Amino acid sequence: MTSAGAVVVGAGPNGLAAAVTLARAGIPVTVYEAAETIGGGTRTQQLVRPGVLHDVCSAIHPMALATGFFRAFELERRMRFVVPEASYANPLDGTAGDHRAAIAYRDLERTAAELGRDGAAYAGLYRPLLRRLEGVIDFALGGSMLRWPSDPLAAILTGLRTLEQGTPLWNARFSEQAAPALVSGVAAHSIGRMPGLASAGVGLVLGALGHASGWPVPVGGSRAITDALAADLLAHGGRIETSHPVSDVRELDAYRVKLFDTSARGLMRIAGSALPGRYRRALGRFRYGDGATKVDFVLDGPIPWADQRVAGAPTVHLGGSRAEGAAAEREVARGRHPRQPYVLLAQTAAFDPERAPVQENGAELTPIWSYTHVPKGSTVDMSHPVIAQIERFAPGFRDRILDVRVTTAAEFAGYNRNYIGGDFSAGAVTPWQLLARPVVAREPWRTPAAGIYLCSSSTPPGPGVHGLSGWYAARAALRHEYGLPAPGLGLDS
Ligand SMILES: Cc1cc2nc3c(=O)[nH]c(=O)nc-3n(C[C@H](O)[C@H](O)[C@H](O)COP(=O)(O)OP(=O)(O)OC[C@H]3O[C@@H](n4cnc5c(N)ncnc54)[C@H](O)[C@@H]3O)c2cc1C
Repeated sequence: MTSAGAVVVGAGPNGLAAAVTLARAGIPVTVYEAAETIGGGTRTQQLVRPGVLHDVCSAIHPMALATGFFRAFELERRMRFVVPEASYANPLDGTAGDHRAAIAYRDLERTAAELGRDGAAYAGLYRPLLRRLEGVIDFALGGSMLRWPSDPLAAILTGLRTLEQGTPLWNARFSEQAAPALVSGVAAHSIGRMPGLASAGVGLVLGALGHASGWPVPVGGSRAITDALAADLLAHGGRIETSHPVSDVRELDAYRVKLFDTSARGLMRIAGSALPGRYRRALGRFRYGDGATKVDFVLDGPIPWADQRVAGAPTVHLGGSRAEGAAAEREVARGRHPRQPYVLLAQTAAFDPERAPVQENGAELTPIWSYTHVPKGSTVDMSHPVIAQIERFAPGFRDRILDVRVTTAAEFAGYNRNYIGGDFSAGAVTPWQLLARPVVAREPWRTPAAGIYLCSSSTPPGPGVHGLSGWYAARAALRHEYGLPAPGLGLDS
């Protein structure tokens, strides 16, 4: 017998956000998670050495304080974040051993002041976006791209800057190395050729957040976000079952409404013939991108950055100049492993009191999290090029390493079935796939099959820990299946 209840398949941040939204509206919700623990890309555990906590996937949360779902959920009141003055750093080679980094502070004017001759041009890139930040966030993250923006001027400003930074014009406003490297260090998060429109758009929005609410470090690690979501779900009557993979939609016949925090391909496999053929073919055309290989370290102390200011930034982009970063990304797009890769590094222990370095035999056991982009399905151990890239900007880094643990893109695909070939975006981030995610529709979370919704980052607004895909999918399900409005999510509602 079918109940009025809903089921959510997958307990990543989007699945949990969907479940919380449904439970808050009074719908009985069950969450099935394939893995032994919940969290998807927001898990923290002793990965490399006992007693030392590493984030398994996400580590830094630019969208935790400034975007719709987490704001409505009042995440900031449920857990602690540390928001340093510096959001991210991009070390550069100097002359005669004089290494200097570009640093993005929450304060745009301070950032610009340290960027030399390009300071004014850099500030001019971001200042108009910061003045209309709410509109920029709504344009980029507010739902389907087929919607009229709430602040058309913000959308135009973002669009024009995306055109500039996403095309060969990208260096037109700059004359030195530091400012453009800072901009493309963020753009490269989206994995793909640069300049490119999708990476430029992603980079500008994340960069604007870095100059506004910052790039917060969750106290206790990313799993604190998972814990906050799960606690609210359980408090509102939801149920979670772990070690419960779902492989066929018929296993879910007992539920009236089904939401999938799976990749679009996962949905296709599980729902199969329950989905109309045309929609299945559209899902089949959805493309997956290149992957990430992670290299986690335990050091015997902090990283000896050549430019000590880099120690003040929790996130470090190690790609060198804009041209070098673009060359590395181009190699990956061609199916090769770059010799000088673009590396994303997080040094959260210096900021998080709960993950501060552990003292052992006089050493300060310090966790370091890093990953680099690789061709899809890669099984290559990237530790040597990653270490070399860090050493380049932090001479002596190699000597501080106590342990290294590599997780290849292929291993990531086994760790989380949403990461097809190691693509943790659950679908390549391309201009077309920002519009067609996974299909072109005003409500891309709702499938044509009765009661079946997709709520993962295969839907808008795409990858990242923001819970927005889950929130939008659950609100659509409440409206269409139950005739209910979106519930309040705050602590007092
Ligand atoms: C190395 C790495 C670093 C990252 N760094 C950051 C970062 O610093 N900041 C940031 O914002 N984002 C980061 N991300 C991206 C972020 O983690 C993801 O975008 C986000 O977790 C997506 O959330 P989701 O809920 O859509 O899917 P996921 O978090 O992937 O969760 C999906 C869940 O569904 C489960 N599932 C899938 N299929 C089934 C099934 N058939 N049955 C049952 N369960 C199933 C999976 O086991 C998984 O737990 C990173 C990702 C990786 C891999």
